[in-house]
Amino acid sequence: MNGHMARVGDQPTAGSFGHGVQVIDEDKEFNTNLNEYLQLEHVAEAGFNYHLISVFGSQSTGKSTLLNNLFGTDFSVMSETQRQQTTKGIWLSKNKRTESAGTKMAENILVMDVEGTDGRERGEDQDFERKSALFALATSEILLLNIWEHQVGLYQGANMGLLKTVFEVNLQLFLKDKQSTPRSLLFFVIRDHLGTTPLANLRETLIQDLTKLWSSISKPQGLENSRIEDYFDFGFAALPHKILQGEKFVSEVHVLGSRFTAGHRNKGSRSENELEGGLFLPEYHRRIPADGFSVYAEGIWDQIVNNKDLDLPTQQELLAQFRCDEISREVLINFDNVISPLEEKQAEAVRLGKPTVLQDLGPSGSKSRQAAIKAFELQASRYHKGVYTRKRQELEGKIDTRLKALYQGQLTAAHKAGVAAFSEAVSNKVKAGQKAGGAYEFAEIVSNEKKKTLEIFKAEAQGLAIEGVPWTNFKSQYLLFESELDEVSGKLRKEEMRRLAVRVERWVKSRLGEAIGVEFNKLGSGRAGSDTSEAEGKSATEKDLWDRIWNVFAGIVKEAEVRFVDRAKSFDASDEEVEVGTWRLRRKSWVALREKIDEEVMEGNILLKLRENFEDKFRYDEAGVPRIWRPTDDIEGIYTKARESTLKLIPLLSRFRLASTYAPPDLISFIGPQPSGVEAGDEEDLAPIGGVDEEEGKSLEEETTVLSESKRQDLVVRFKKTADGVFVEAKRSAIGGVAQ
Ligand code: GDP
Ligand code: MG
Repeated sequence: MNGHMARVGDQPTAGSFGHGVQVIDEDKEFNTNLNEYLQLEHVAEAGFNYHLISVFGSQSTGKSTLLNNLFGTDFSVMSETQRQQTTKGIWLSKNKRTESAGTKMAENILVMDVEGTDGRERGEDQDFERKSALFALATSEILLLNIWEHQVGLYQGANMGLLKTVFEVNLQLFLKDKQSTPRSLLFFVIRDHLGTTPLANLRETLIQDLTKLWSSISKPQGLENSRIEDYFDFGFAALPHKILQGEKFVSEVHVLGSRFTAGHRNKGSRSENELEGGLFLPEYHRRIPADGFSVYAEGIWDQIVNNKDLDLPTQQELLAQFRCDEISREVLINFDNVISPLEEKQAEAVRLGKPTVLQDLGPSGSKSRQAAIKAFELQASRYHKGVYTRKRQELEGKIDTRLKALYQGQLTAAHKAGVAAFSEAVSNKVKAGQKAGGAYEFAEIVSNEKKKTLEIFKAEAQGLAIEGVPWTNFKSQYLLFESELDEVSGKLRKEEMRRLAVRVERWVKSRLGEAIGVEFNKLGSGRAGSDTSEAEGKSATEKDLWDRIWNVFAGIVKEAEVRFVDRAKSFDASDEEVEVGTWRLRRKSWVALREKIDEEVMEGNILLKLRENFEDKFRYDEAGVPRIWRPTDDIEGIYTKARESTLKLIPLLSRFRLASTYAPPDLISFIGPQPSGVEAGDEEDLAPIGGVDEEEGKSLEEETTVLSESKRQDLVVRFKKTADGVFVEAKRSAIGGVAQ
C-alpha cells in the first residue's frame, strides 16, 4: 500500500490527498477528513453545483482503472503482477479533468471508488456490499456498474447478486422519502467488449435480466406493483480491452467522459435514448449542499453501520440543524466583532455612571444585522426549509436580543442626555435673559429648546430603525421622552414662577415701604387733615389711618397681582398655578405689610411720631402759627388738651381697625381660600396668618393687634414723660421770656 494515501487519523495536507480521500476505511470507520478534502478541492463552497458518482462491480474488474482514465484520478489499481485486492473501503476523489474528447465536463464531479466484492477476499460476507450500496444510493446521482462483456446474460452471475442488493436497498431507502423519490442512473460499463455483439443487443439482454430481477425481489408493502423504471434510468456503454486495444480503450473512455455533463429529459420520457445532453439530470441530485456533504455522509454512514433504518428525510433535517447551527455561529463571529466593542463601551459608560450616546450605532447595528442574516441565508437556505426557517428565526432572535439591549441603552443615554441638555439650555437662556434686564420670553425659550431637543432624540431613534423590523420602532420611547421634557418644563416653569413671585414680592415691599411710611409720617403732623373736632380728639387723618393703609395696601396688591398674572400667562402657566401664585402673593404681601407696620411702630419710631404729633398740637395754634409762651398763657390747659389728643392715638394705633366697620379688615376674603392646586412645598415658606389659618391658634384679633397691652402702657408712660419734658421746657421759656 502506498505510504502517502490519506487514511483515517492522518493529518490532512494538500499532499496527503493524492489518491483522493478514504471516506470509509476497511474497518467501516468514517473519515472525518472528508470535509477538509472538499474544502481543499474548493467543492465545499459550490452549493449544489457538484455531482457524485459511485462505481460498483466485482473485485478486479478494472473499476479503479476505469475511473482513473475517465476522471484523471489516482485511485489505487491492482498491480498486474500481484493479484490481490487493492481498493479498501470507499475512496473519493474529485474529477481532475475539465474536458473530455473536446467537451467541457461538468464542474465538481466527485467519484467514489467502492471496494468490490466477489466473495473471494471478503469471504461470503455480503454485509459490506449491502452497506456500501446503501451509502452510494443515498448520496450518488449515478451508479457506474462495471461488468465484463462475457458476464452479460449470465443471470446467476455475481453481478446479479450485487444488483439485487442495490434494488432491495433502494426500495428500503426511498420508502420513507415518498415526496422526493430521487431517481438514480444505473450506468452499465461493459468491459472487454469484443465488438461482435453490438451494444444494443447487450443492452436488450441486460434490460431483460434487470426486469426479471426486479420482479423477483421482495418488495415492501405498498410497493408490490412498483416498476423498475419508477426508480432508475439506465445507461450503457461498452469499452474495448484495455490491454489488447490500449489506444482504442483510451479514446473510447474519453468519449464516455464527454457524457459527464448536465443533461435533461426529453418530453418526460424515462428511457436513456431520450436523455438529451449529458448524464447529469437535475432529478438525480440528492440536494445536499456541498458544505454539508461530509456531515450528511457521516450521519448516513453511522445509521447504516449501526443497522438502523435509514431515514433520509430525518437525516436531512439533522444535517440542516447541524449546519444551520454551524453557519449561525460563523456569521455571529462577524456580528460580534462589530457589536461586542460597542456593548463593552456602553457597559463601561453605565458603570462609570455617565451613559453615553454611541456614534453611528444605528448604521453599525443594522449593517451587521443585515450582513449576518444575509450570509446565513446564502449558505443555510440550501438546507431543509423548515429547519432553515426555524434556525433563521433563532439567529434573528439572538441578534435582536443583543441589538435590543444595545439600542435600549442608547435611547436611555439619549434620554438622559436630552433631559439634562434641555434643562441646562433653558436655565442658561433664562440667566442670560435676566442678565440682559429680564427681557426674555420663558415660554418661547422652553418651546424652542424642547423642539431642538426632541429633534435630536428623534434623529437618534430614527437612526436605529431597521426597515421591516417592528421592534426598532421607538415611537413609544419618543413619546416618553417628550412627556419627560414636559415634566421638566413644568418644573422649570415652577421655578420661573417662583422667581417671578420673588420679583413681584420685592416690588410690593418697596411700594409698601414708601406708601405706608408716608401714611405714618402724616401722624407726625397733629394738624394734618381738616377736621379737628374736639369730640373725636383726633383728626380725620388719624381716625382713618388704617382705612388709608388698607386701601393703599389693597391697591398695591391688586396691581402686583395684575403684573404677576400677565407675566405668568406669558409662559403658559396654568390657571391653577396662577391661582396658587396670586394666593401666595396676597399672603406674602400681608405679611410684608405687617412687617412694615411693625417697623413703623417700633419704640423709637412711634415715640418720635407721637412727640411730633403732640408738639404740633402744643406748639402751634389753630392757625398753625407757632406759639410764643407768655406767663399768662394757659400752658397747662393747652398741654393737657394736646397730650390727651395725642394719647388717644395710642389705642388707635394699637389695632388695625377700619373706621368704616370698627373691625379688622376682612383678611379671610382678601386672601381667599387655599386653592386646590397648592402642592407640598408651596406652603413651606408661608408664615401663618391669624384668623386666616385658623388651626394655627392665632385669631384675626391677634393678627391685627399692632401694639400689645404692655407695649401700649409702656408707650403711654414714655410719651407722657416726653410730653412732660416739652411742657417743662415751655413753662421755662414762658418765665424766661418774662425775666428777659
Ligand atoms: P478493480 O479492483 O475493479 O478496481 O480493478 P483494477 O482497476 O485494480 O484492475 C484490476 C486488474 O485488471 C489490473 O491488473 C488491471 O491492469 C486490469 N485491467 C484494468 N482494466 C482492464 C481492462 O479493461 N481489461 C482487462 N482485461 N484488464 C483490465
Ligand atoms: Mg479498485
